[in-house]
Amino acid sequence: MASRVAVVTGGNKGIGLAIVQALCKQFQGDVYLTARDVGRGEEAVESLSSEGLKAKFHQLDIDNLNSIAAAAAFFKQSYGGVDVLVNNAAILMSSAEPYGVHMDVTFKTNFFATRDMLTHFMPLVKAGGRVVNVSSTLGRSALTQCDPALQQRFRSEDIGEDELVGLMQQMVDKAKNEEPKEGDSPLKAYSLSKTGLTVLSMILARRLSKERPNDGILLNACCPGWVRTDMTSPEASKSPEEGAITPVYLALLPPGASEPHGKFVSDQKVQPW
Ligand code: NAP
Repeated sequence: MASRVAVVTGGNKGIGLAIVQALCKQFQGDVYLTARDVGRGEEAVESLSSEGLKAKFHQLDIDNLNSIAAAAAFFKQSYGGVDVLVNNAAILMSSAEPYGVHMDVTFKTNFFATRDMLTHFMPLVKAGGRVVNVSSTLGRSALTQCDPALQQRFRSEDIGEDELVGLMQQMVDKAKNEEPKEGDSPLKAYSLSKTGLTVLSMILARRLSKERPNDGILLNACCPGWVRTDMTSPEASKSPEEGAITPVYLALLPPGASEPHGKFVSDQKVQPW
């Protein structure tokens, strides 16, 4: 029988690397560190190996559909699917380009490409599987700044994937076509992309409950906390290892667990949305 397998995107550094590290210690099965750059990924696998941890490597650039499809085909062929998927890869821009560019580029990776990952990998998630989307508390703060009608849709139980995708695309188009407003920034674009990812997680969890009610798959979004990585600053409060705790907790929810599912979780607790 094929071994169990866990897959982490953006695993070459930061929180992703710490998630891979923790899974190598705690997950019963093969752990794949994936990265868009083969050199950076293999170097990270090597660094874990020097700690006595055995991660495997597969190239995976979530912005590239061919790369996603090739990885999905590999895991299907080699393991019959995946047991744990952690969608960790994301970007936060810091350039001085117009807000429309920040929205376009940030949404491309953090929302649309992560959705592409989910589209290709959800059918591969085995019974008892765990899916963790690394989102952010900033996504909730951004939600509270959206206009009330949008907030209502993003919180509703009946929003579907197509409607969400349309609303996310509208936000990008609006940012590209309108004059920038006060408060528009790369961080705002990042935060809104994470609003979308959390809503997408809730939609996909509801779909799992409906379409695969007996498979016991749990899917959640989470925030790792404010973590010292290249995305933030040395002043952040948590180490990458501490930031990995909640994503790993969700990835390793014990067999037979029925919750959390379709929730936004931080500090290992379900948070209001
Ligand atoms: P990071 O150190 O900048 O790491 C981001 C990782 O994502 C890198 O491995 C990067 O690869 C990868 N990545 C970016 N675009 C990719 C793509 N197209 N395909 C594959 N991999 C890609 O950031 P981090 O702080 O560890 O962030 C990890 C996750 O935690 C993100 O989802 C972030 O939004 C979330 N988060 C972080 C914090 C925080 O305080 N740090 C707070 C809340 C949420 P390269 O090395 O090739 O660029």
